[in-house]
Amino acid sequence: MKGHQLTVIGAGVMGRGIAYVGVLGGFSVNLVDVSEEALQNAQQEIEKNFEKGLSRGKLTDEEAKRARAQLNLITNMDDAAKESDIIIEAVPERKELKKSVFETIDRVAPKKCIFATNTSTMSPTEIGSYTNRPSSVIAMHFFNPVHKMPLVEIIRGLETSDETADFVEQVAKRMGKETVVVNEFPGFVTSRISCLVGNEAFYMLQEGLGTPEDIDKAIKLGLNYPMGPFELVDLVGLDTRLNNLRYLHNTLGEKYRPAPLLEQYVKSGRIGRKVGIGVYDYRDNGE
Ligand code: NAD
Repeated sequence: MKGHQLTVIGAGVMGRGIAYVGVLGGFSVNLVDVSEEALQNAQQEIEKNFEKGLSRGKLTDEEAKRARAQLNLITNMDDAAKESDIIIEAVPERKELKKSVFETIDRVAPKKCIFATNTSTMSPTEIGSYTNRPSSVIAMHFFNPVHKMPLVEIIRGLETSDETADFVEQVAKRMGKETVVVNEFPGFVTSRISCLVGNEAFYMLQEGLGTPEDIDKAIKLGLNYPMGPFELVDLVGLDTRLNNLRYLHNTLGEKYRPAPLLEQYVKSGRIGRKVGIGVYDYRDNGE
């Protein structure tokens, strides 16, 4: 397969995971972030993944050595994009931010380079319209934690070509993932359901229906979900979930209005595991 050089933009929760499965899949990966601190955190997290992979026998020393050497952390997006075959964007879910990233990479990346967005909700058609290559733009929706979750949901925009869709399916497979290819509609399949359930859980908490532990337990043991909605939102990031809900509220209507309690948690800075506290507090147990 052609397409060896992968650039991932945004080294947060998702970007670092995509970079990790990218190097394991044999890509040379540039991981880009505007924040040095985010890159350092990403490096530490990726190293932890390598160590776990080695200790569990999922990776050999040789594979880990080769994969580590394929990862390049960088703050300059122009330099990173210049020689890429595929760029996967994973910056926060804000339209203006994504627009500026896509306008920049469209200017500097080679004409044949494919652009994918890891957006949870936004329109790949609209994102494609920020570029002069809409047929080469698509959404690759990874799940958190990326190295454990088997699926990449691929969403075609109106102008996305068959070649682009085939190419990103191959990329996802090379990263060891299953794929499902769907047509565009806000929230796709997975975010539409996940945001609805997660938001409803905040309404329940707000109404005093039970504690977060009770609600999570009921959903896990009663409905056979692997994680409770609060455990999941702490992993996803409450800020990320709120941005997704705002987008779905605008596009799909009232049933996605963000719960005021979720807004309040975000205002207070309780945005999840990435800062040590979300609905639950992770700071006492050394995480
Ligand atoms: P995050 O906040 O953890 O990380 C985003 C990173 O992007 C930060 O490190 C930030 O410094 C960096 N960034 C901001 N502006 C930048 C720029 N101009 N250039 C380079 N880097 C920049 O966010 P996340 O949770 O990783 O989410 C990223 C995207 O993935 C969003 O679109 C989100 O909706 C989507 N997503 C998130 C999850 C999840 O569980 N968190 C799951 C699937 C998809």
